[in-house]
Amino acid sequence: MRSKKELAVELQKLKVFDKPKFNLEQYPTEADIAADIIWDINLKLSEEITVTDLGAGTGILGIGSAIMFAQKVYFVEKDKDAIKILQENLDCYEGINYEILEGDINFLMKLPKSDIVIMNPPFGTKNEHLDTQFLERAFTIANKVYSLHKTSTKDFLKRFGLKHGFEIVDEKEYEFPLKQTMNHHKKRIEKIEVSLLVWEKNN
Ligand code: SAH
Repeated sequence: MRSKKELAVELQKLKVFDKPKFNLEQYPTEADIAADIIWDINLKLSEEITVTDLGAGTGILGIGSAIMFAQKVYFVEKDKDAIKILQENLDCYEGINYEILEGDINFLMKLPKSDIVIMNPPFGTKNEHLDTQFLERAFTIANKVYSLHKTSTKDFLKRFGLKHGFEIVDEKEYEFPLKQTMNHHKKRIEKIEVSLLVWEKNN
């Protein structure tokens, strides 16, 4: 890939959820945003690393990582329908080293360690505290975590992270389009403020 734009165009080709499940908060990361995040991570890397995509969905974050810098990607996802599409997406690439771990992040017993976790977890709007459960699990997998959250929850999450020995070392704001698919009276697209939080383990 020669540019962030080229990466975005590549990621745009991936299939997304057929019928997003709102109870699982299935909102895919837009290709432009995924490319921006992955491009920035890649710029700071000097070697290949292992990556866990927690709540991988159809896999855009993990696949983007594999294209740019990951020597191996662990995709963790509980929804079988999402995993089917993830598998179709992976089948379009040769040479990606990956493992799909099917299950609920709260019940999967053992998850392998990796260098970084990259995730767009549920924001915890439908399932209260699912965002912090994802973070807590991510903190057990890697010493560096890239996670997307509603900007309005940042201060709360910052305190949560500190309690678990992790601090925010960088952040970036994005706007997520939230299509009003649930409400047929409103056709407009609402935007929500989302922050990429970069966490590192305290010494
Ligand atoms: N990472 C993908 C998908 C984001 S949507 C992307 O960026 O496009 C959040 C994903 O988390 C969905 O695929 C949903 O099925 C999954 N998920 C929700 N609750 C989960 C749980 N408890 N354990 C594992 N995966 C879960």
